[in-house]
Amino acid sequence: MIPFNRPPSTGTESRYIEEALTQGKLSGDGPFSQLCQRWFERRLGCERAFLTPSCTHALEMAALLIDVKPGDEIIMPSYTFVSTANAFVLRGARIVFVDIRPDTMNIDETLIEPAITEKTRAIVPVHYAGVGCEMDPIMALANRYGLYVIEDAAQGMMSTYKDRPLGTIGHLGAFSFHETKNYTSGGEGGLLIVNDASFTNRAEIIREKGTNRSQFFRGMVDKYSWVGVGSSYLPSELQAAYLWAQLNLAEQIRDNRLAIWNGYHRAFKLLISRGVVEGPALPAASAHNAHMYFLKVRDLEERTTLIDHLKQSGVMAVFHYVPLHATPFGQTMGRFHGEERFTSQESERLVRLPVWYGMSVEEQEQVIQSLLAFFD
Ligand SMILES: *Cc1c(COP(=O)(O)O)cnc(C)c1O
Repeated sequence: MIPFNRPPSTGTESRYIEEALTQGKLSGDGPFSQLCQRWFERRLGCERAFLTPSCTHALEMAALLIDVKPGDEIIMPSYTFVSTANAFVLRGARIVFVDIRPDTMNIDETLIEPAITEKTRAIVPVHYAGVGCEMDPIMALANRYGLYVIEDAAQGMMSTYKDRPLGTIGHLGAFSFHETKNYTSGGEGGLLIVNDASFTNRAEIIREKGTNRSQFFRGMVDKYSWVGVGSSYLPSELQAAYLWAQLNLAEQIRDNRLAIWNGYHRAFKLLISRGVVEGPALPAASAHNAHMYFLKVRDLEERTTLIDHLKQSGVMAVFHYVPLHATPFGQTMGRFHGEERFTSQESERLVRLPVWYGMSVEEQEQVIQSLLAFFD
């Protein structure tokens, strides 16, 4: 059986975890966390990088940082993971969903402005499949209306938009190191990127359970105490040690995934050019990280038969994201602004093929042949 995903592993994780076990500090912001955070700050060129236990937590921190109040409205696509919305719903916000573009499956940047009201506080673009949203027009809108932009870059580590790393363009950015993403910190993990320096102080406090312990450790205050709202948003050193192994091979992991991605794209070129399936669109402005290879088939029925066919040939292909506005809870927590032309229709056509770091040529060939046989 070809699984849909294998958690990335470089072979050096256990060595760093051993090291973390012997260094006598396992709680958050120890040596391995610092190594990872400094790496992100240098590599992404951001103001500050904070490891978190998940991208969900990074988004929750972002909602706390921009001080979302009950009744505030947050604009985002409906075609996304529940955490994008939940982080703001937890603070009492209403979610305003906007349609996606059928080519990238990203939020349609031209539909955001009509969705803005007096209550709008933030726009949350989701970089689907690690392909950048049209950030220039989104940032221009945000500046014009005084809104925050929080990038859900869960899938976008090592991708760029106009040569700027995803996650560093908005005021805040959130990444995931869940085992289904390109890099993992041992199954679960995340990262909050602070680009607007005015958030740094409070980010430290929120992450340290509402205390100024970070300042205390730097010797800036002589005792630490409760200074604001907060929660427990530090991952353990074991997670950071696992992640550090992967960051050392960050380019290699991305390039290996890109080779697999390109292999699929070559193999399905004819199917795509004949219009049998639709391939992923790659806007010129965005250099992607091969987070995902997807195809879009005719409709839901064809997708169901294709996934069944692949399963019988030993290949696990998947789909995801029932659009949030169509879920029972989503209907009570938000509204869809404007016409819903593409979100449901396009999401029902999409199928994701197996991609993981280190996937062998033979494994990929089995996926390709099974898929080609279906359309033959
Ligand atoms: C994976 C994912 C998340 C959640 O990440 P966790 O680290 O599992 O919390 C949020 N948003 C998007 C778009 C994702 O793909």
